[in-house]
Amino acid sequence: MLTIRQLSKQFEGSEVLKNINIDITEGTTTAIIGPSGSGKSTLLNCINLLELPSQGTIRLGDHSLTFPTSEKLSHRTILEFRQQTGMVFQGNHLFPHMTALQNIMLGLVTVKKKNKNDALVCAKALLHKVGLDAYGERYPYQLSGGQQQRVGIARAMAMEPRILLFDEPTSALDPELVEEVLEVMKDLKREGMTLFVVTHEMAFAHRVADSVFFMDQGEIIERGSPQEVFSKKDNEKLRYFVSRLS
Ligand code: ATP
Ligand code: MG
Repeated sequence: MLTIRQLSKQFEGSEVLKNINIDITEGTTTAIIGPSGSGKSTLLNCINLLELPSQGTIRLGDHSLTFPTSEKLSHRTILEFRQQTGMVFQGNHLFPHMTALQNIMLGLVTVKKKNKNDALVCAKALLHKVGLDAYGERYPYQLSGGQQQRVGIARAMAMEPRILLFDEPTSALDPELVEEVLEVMKDLKREGMTLFVVTHEMAFAHRVADSVFFMDQGEIIERGSPQEVFSKKDNEKLRYFVSRLS
């Protein structure tokens, strides 16, 4: 479903991603862990073309792009590719002047070209899915951090992406709010959604993910089932990283 071959990314001469190869099967959850600066966000940003890879191929669904491209990518090509992904960031990226429902409806009207009534029905169903039926009329500042993140997930789901990308979706939350966001993610997994999650939540990586990637200095240096990766006794960096976080 998502295939990445020999992907590299350089920023001003420094190599931030090195020869990344990934095969993601539909309906699976992948947790990406690794120290700060190892390239986790850059990898997500390359998958949705917020950053353009320097070299390599990304195939997502029926779209495939190989970098460097022979000519400059059109805005339209980038948008078509990006629309197959949904992105949930660490912090709140909701529009502050719009209610929860309006935040979800926006893309339905502008991108999916739904009329307002259909968009409203759809947005309400998504709010229900993330357990926020009663909060549709609230503005982001009237919601807790966990509720804001759940609206963010609903907004991403509204675009019917093939894959949901999460960049530390719970890192900015107070500890008591983390679980409600992880619960929504578990529900999505149960429904067959494909999730690609950069996280520091080792319990989530261990219990929910089908596979775990450990990144270090721009490379995926360990990968496998959570059981396999967390039991790698021979990789000192991974051992240290996991022990520090749990
Ligand atoms: P963290 O856990 O702190 O979020 P990360 O694993 O997500 O870290 P990235 O944000 O992907 O790491 O950064 C990887 C490296 O790339 C870092 O050295 C960072 O400084 C560099 N980098 C990221 N974005 C840019 C950019 N736009 N221009 C130049 N360098 C960048
Ligand atoms: Mg990051």
